Amino acid sequence: MEAPKYIFIVEDEADIVELVSYNLKKEGFIVDSAPDGEAALKKIRKGKYDLIILDLMLPVIQGMELCRILRNDPKTTALPIIMLTAKGEEIDKILGLEMGADDYITKPFSPRELVARVKAVLRRTVEKPAADKIIEVGDLVINKETYTVTRKGVPVKLSATEFKLLVFLAERMGKIFNRDQILDAIWRDEAFVEPRTVDVHIRRLRSQIEEDPAQPRYIKTMRGIGYFFDGK
Ligand code: CA
Repeated sequence: MEAPKYIFIVEDEADIVELVSYNLKKEGFIVDSAPDGEAALKKIRKGKYDLIILDLMLPVIQGMELCRILRNDPKTTALPIIMLTAKGEEIDKILGLEMGADDYITKPFSPRELVARVKAVLRRTVEKPAADKIIEVGDLVINKETYTVTRKGVPVKLSATEFKLLVFLAERMGKIFNRDQILDAIWRDEAFVEPRTVDVHIRRLRSQIEEDPAQPRYIKTMRGIGYFFDGK
């Protein structure tokens, strides 16, 4: 049997929370919730959830802002989010770059429809990592199973940290991360790492994977902000 999935609902309307929880639990999901954005953020950061159902209209931190915060945090950036919206709210924004929700559902909705959406989004996101054991871009091949990288078919030597850094950025192509976000993701609890360490490792990584490290093709700098992997 598959491990149960953990769903987190952020919604201040108790009736909706109850209805959605009831229907999800009936389908074998484990459900937790919070009535406002701030409480939700605390719980989501601490826990391990598979999907977030997020209402757009919330007290303290608005749904849109919460979605943005989750997307910008490396720990939650890949967490699937389904938005609950009222009719007429800006759907393009919700699904687009600005917020990056995975799906949305308009109120009033049928619980069955929502459960179906939850399953569909989970299927989509759960299947991805298996297919992505190998990341191929340009003349680079990154194999996450064997921890090897080749460029033009030639093995590239990387330290464990450089490999982690490369995979972290390559899995999130196009997304820009500042030094603190990268530190958080790669070095986590090591207290004595300075933001400058990120620059040092980026430089070493470039010297190994870039044809011309001074004009990087893959690991690019966004001046004043941070770094990103250019997948184009
Ligand atoms: Ca609400």
